[in-house]
Amino acid sequence: MYRFKELLEANADKICALLTEEHGKVLDDARGELSRAIENVEYACGAPELLKGEYSKDVGPAIDSWSEFQPLGVVAGITPFNFPVMVPLWMYPTAIICGNTFVLKPSERTPSSSLFVASLLHEAGLPAGVINVVNGDKEAVDTILEDPRVKGVSFVGSTPIAEYIYTKGTAAGKRIQALGGAKNHALVMPDADLDNAVSSLMGAAYGSCGERCMAISVAVAIGNETADALVGKLSEELKDLKVGPGTDINNDMGPLITEPHMKKVRGLIDSGIKAGAELVVDGRELEVEGHENGNFLGACLFDRVTAEMQIYQEEIFGPVLCVVRVKTMEEAMKLINDHEYGNGTCIFTRDGEAARYFSDHIEVGMVGINVPLPVPVAYHSFGGFKRSLFGDLHIYGPDSIRFYTKRKTITQRWSSTGVREGAKFTFPSHS
Ligand code: NAD
Repeated sequence: MYRFKELLEANADKICALLTEEHGKVLDDARGELSRAIENVEYACGAPELLKGEYSKDVGPAIDSWSEFQPLGVVAGITPFNFPVMVPLWMYPTAIICGNTFVLKPSERTPSSSLFVASLLHEAGLPAGVINVVNGDKEAVDTILEDPRVKGVSFVGSTPIAEYIYTKGTAAGKRIQALGGAKNHALVMPDADLDNAVSSLMGAAYGSCGERCMAISVAVAIGNETADALVGKLSEELKDLKVGPGTDINNDMGPLITEPHMKKVRGLIDSGIKAGAELVVDGRELEVEGHENGNFLGACLFDRVTAEMQIYQEEIFGPVLCVVRVKTMEEAMKLINDHEYGNGTCIFTRDGEAARYFSDHIEVGMVGINVPLPVPVAYHSFGGFKRSLFGDLHIYGPDSIRFYTKRKTITQRWSSTGVREGAKFTFPSHS
């Protein structure tokens, strides 16, 4: 793992170039993805500490007991298009240090950087067969789910597929963690530092063209005064947003992943207009010179979105931010708690009491307080609530050590006195 980390750093330019060329995200964003990915390799370098097990001496007369964490065997990872470097590294560094072999099935839309990064493990000296990459789509996924040799599967992708993987995988007796889609709300309180909230929202809503599972896609403003100021400042900022090829370092936002996806996002924007939301900033007419057939879409900002609208209910996964106006914090929190997804959320406020109340009572797995993208660092674990996660354990960090191992508990007696006990017919106890 140490050698792998060095190779990732030495090949950073090549990895980020592959990522940007195939996915389209801007180069700086690719660099950010790689650096968060490397954190997971650093975490895995702590293998001896992470796998120490638990030990209790003298649990009974001359009896000691301990738990070991043994590998599951063959485990697999199925990953989405949007983080082809980082999400596989959420999985296999810890799976491998736990003693498993790993089969990665990357997204068929962005396989190149995933494949190249995995090949660096071979260069680092990992024995053949420990990391394997299989390209493909549903057929490859179903083969993995049906093969009895595969004991566990980590999945990251959209909610319908996550649910499918969880249902089919658990029915086949496999251990499954399946992370799904999201609709992440930012709550903007009247006392918030609005300039800070606006610059945070710009990156969180439009970074990577909104194609992030932690992207903020809804801003809930408390009171019309907050909403008016928020919409006004966001509209101003959006005038300077630069959209174009990710390889041009001056751009803030690249293209969407495919033409069908772009059409889906445009369809959702149309549905929002039809439903009566106010499209304050309209990015649909954007043309990028020299790339007229590209999947570019300018940033869009909707105001006066309401809970029954399709643009509020569905994950758009595009550069579209919806502003919802409510009167109270309770109303905002009910809205968030009632939503089917519960991946990430954040609150912008200067009031510590309100922030604590929010983090205590919000039904979401990852919470930011004045932090718009609260993606946990590698030594915590990542996962949502409700239909954003199917399974029990979150991904990477401490939970992943438990996910990729089975606990074996050993109870051992070595008497040093030579005394032997006769047969006992009562249940073993301390006495
Ligand atoms: P996707 O669900 O279309 O694809 C994910 C993986 O599933 C791919 O490897 C794909 O080949 C496979 N797949 C697709 N259709 C399948 C089918 N019918 N049967 C079996 N396997 C199938 O997701 P995507 O479009 O690549 O990624 C975007 C989605 O992923 C968004 O919903 C986003 O929120 C989510 N996502 C979630 C997280 C998270 O941590 N919760 C992180 C990143 C992305």
